Amino acid sequence: MAMSATIRIDNSKSGISDGGSVNVSCGQQRSLIGLTRDDLKTALGEVGVPARQLRMRANQLWRWVYNRGVTSFDEMTDVAKELRGLLDEQFSLERPEIVSEQISNDGTRKWLLRLAPDDLGRRQDIETVFIPEADRGTLCISSQVGCTLTCTFCHTGTQRLVRNLTGGEIVSQILLARDRLGEWPHQLAANQQAPASGRYITNVVLMGMGEPLYNFDNVKDAIEIASDGEGLSLSKRRITLSTSGVVPEIVRAGNEIGTMLAISLHATTDEVRNKLVPLNKKYPIAQLLQACRDYPGLSNARRITFEYVMLKGVNNSIADAKRLVQLLKGIPAKVNLIPFNPWPGASFECAEWETIEKFAEIVNRAGYSSPVRTPRGRDIMAACGQLKSASQRLTASERRELVEARAS
Ligand code: SAH
Ligand code: SF4
Repeated sequence: MAMSATIRIDNSKSGISDGGSVNVSCGQQRSLIGLTRDDLKTALGEVGVPARQLRMRANQLWRWVYNRGVTSFDEMTDVAKELRGLLDEQFSLERPEIVSEQISNDGTRKWLLRLAPDDLGRRQDIETVFIPEADRGTLCISSQVGCTLTCTFCHTGTQRLVRNLTGGEIVSQILLARDRLGEWPHQLAANQQAPASGRYITNVVLMGMGEPLYNFDNVKDAIEIASDGEGLSLSKRRITLSTSGVVPEIVRAGNEIGTMLAISLHATTDEVRNKLVPLNKKYPIAQLLQACRDYPGLSNARRITFEYVMLKGVNNSIADAKRLVQLLKGIPAKVNLIPFNPWPGASFECAEWETIEKFAEIVNRAGYSSPVRTPRGRDIMAACGQLKSASQRLTASERRELVEARAS
């Protein structure tokens, strides 16, 4: 059997990495990554760039950072040396530190990333996963450290510490994946083996750690930046935001963000969903599906994905499949059946393969595409719901306390 590989990156010396692309020095300057175009202009104005140059300078920087992927101001050859010096003093273009990079035997890559210190000097870890497939490459990014919600089947929900990622920390995950994959346009142009689509990362999903709609503004900024046509150029149709069902924010996301939407449904009755996704007590299934019906721009070409984790004896009966079909009536939808990914201490089991197939057939016959998501990167714990650094593991009693505390 092929073995997965883990590269532990030695960060003991500032600026050292295995690929030369990771700058790990931890400066105090403000990061330019994650500023929207308007914020970038304001930031440049604050350090003395003349007003009449702001637009031009911001455009220049934008291309260097998001089209060329530079990590130092020195590389910006069309910016005067004096200004480069000033920018270098005031700002940083740092990526998060790579603690480890694991490559699964199926090609899936998982990065454990250490963020710059927060206001209290604490450094938190997040995870980002790249999943290559024949016709696409999907980057799964995190929106929070941990998650304030406590879905009972999800590993991330057991994490002790939670904070929102900044817009920069969200965008940085894409930059870093591009660095590591060699995906900047000038690198691809020189790469004979580059994919035919012209990119490794064709799709981005916000399905890593965290509930993106509880970090609305930063997620919105990050998506604005990722979809900018002069930068990373990822179309909003190729970015999917996955939510456990924060109804009021779904409405806002439809109006203000406009990406594709995935809903973590996972059950067909409120009774069961209350147990799996406790947020359901606040926003029950009927309200959630109404928000989906109202999501702007839906059509057969632009459908909502309903995620459904297959849990043995909990939500996987024939009656569930039939109810699911009824619930989705009238919504341009596809269903993603996800085999449950077990984690140490989880109190669920994955449904039998046969049961999953029967379930899929019923959903399919009703006219909904319902692929069963093949587990990827299992050998490196890169699959859905497993993203969470091992150092943050809770004991069973700590978990119970956490669930109770968050519920109240
Ligand atoms: N918080 C968001 C996005 C992150 S979770 C959300 O809940 O939608 C991404 C997906 O992985 C969700 O559908 C989530 O329900 C699912 N998931 C979580 N834990 C899982 C597990 N152990 N096995 C399979 N899927 C899981
Ligand atoms: Fe949070 Fe999503 Fe996990 Fe629920 S499934 S705990 S919302 S990350």
